[in-house]
Amino acid sequence: MAVEALQALVERWVRPEVRALAPYAVPPAGDLIKLDAMENPYRWPPELVEAWLERLRRVPLNRYPDPEARELRAALRRTWGVPEAAGLVLGNGSDELIQMILLALAGPGRTALAPEPTFSMYRILAVACGLGYVGVPLGEGFALDGPAFLEALERHRPAVLFLACPNNPTGNLFDPAWVERLLEAAPGLVVVDEAYAPFCEASWLDRAGGHPRLLVLRTLSKLGLAGLRLGLLAGPPAWLEQIGKLRLPYNIGVLNQASALFALEHWEVLEAQARRIRADRAALERAVAERPGVRAVYPSQANFVLFRVWPGRAEAVFEGLRRRGVLIRLLHGAGPGLEDCLRVTVGTPEENAAFLEALDGALAEAGGGAR
Ligand SMILES: *Cc1c(COP(=O)(O)O)cnc(C)c1O
Repeated sequence: MAVEALQALVERWVRPEVRALAPYAVPPAGDLIKLDAMENPYRWPPELVEAWLERLRRVPLNRYPDPEARELRAALRRTWGVPEAAGLVLGNGSDELIQMILLALAGPGRTALAPEPTFSMYRILAVACGLGYVGVPLGEGFALDGPAFLEALERHRPAVLFLACPNNPTGNLFDPAWVERLLEAAPGLVVVDEAYAPFCEASWLDRAGGHPRLLVLRTLSKLGLAGLRLGLLAGPPAWLEQIGKLRLPYNIGVLNQASALFALEHWEVLEAQARRIRADRAALERAVAERPGVRAVYPSQANFVLFRVWPGRAEAVFEGLRRRGVLIRLLHGAGPGLEDCLRVTVGTPEENAAFLEALDGALAEAGGGAR
């Protein structure tokens, strides 16, 4: 078949909104120091890896997993203190749960609302599921612009409002008083996405199941198990019963269930790593802020730091870092308010030091003057 004919075939049948989507881009890291994806940089100690492998040895791969993942859900409830009143659905990462929520709500005239900038999967999945999507710009310092959100709720009557707390890629927590007001004013669901809960103090999880519109998302990804793909959705059972129908059977495999259970038994290891990352984040924020050529560093409650360089220099800084062996995330061009911005994940102290050294070189090369 000719290339043109194939292209025409694809264009005839793939929905226009899907064709218009930009894919969720993940550049290959190769041998670069990988500080672009908010992964926990620490592995498990060797004796723990041995014990984990020993556990996996006994897992029956010939059998389907427990479709309800009962044991794992019970362990997650205990570990995170999920309220009795809340139901729990597990996903192949929280991405899958976001998709399930949107699939349950999708329909003509249905809209999803979220701040701008925020986690890009809300838009991608909303559009893919056939909902409209509206981004409401954040205010000064990426704070929630409360009145603008109240107006947007009134105007668009969204089926769902996504609030990442802390927000990605900005790292800040939204004012809980405003979140509370939006929760009261929203006509539909409010999904509080707590992917970065291990790195901040505040949480809405204790309210899960206690408010008719609130769903809370958690994930093990940023906590050291990004490769596992396990997310959790907590909220009123009446909602989860419906949303759970869209879960593919056996979405959490036997290896994932066994590995997550094992990880929960050794929770203190992951917690200690998160504490370490929080402490190193403070040092990294200070060090980045001291660099001439850095115009702003945004205070972070997550495991990454967003910073702004001189106008027009972000791309050169990004490329300069990459040439020096460090991969971070270029956010310039990724949305309103992110002009000249870059995001770096908190790594090990050695990785952070290598990043800072490369940053000095990249900033000097990119130019742009002193402060
Ligand atoms: C990373 C991230 C996720 C994705 O989590 P997975 O569980 O790995 O799918 C969800 N929400 C936000 C805000 C994130 O930054």
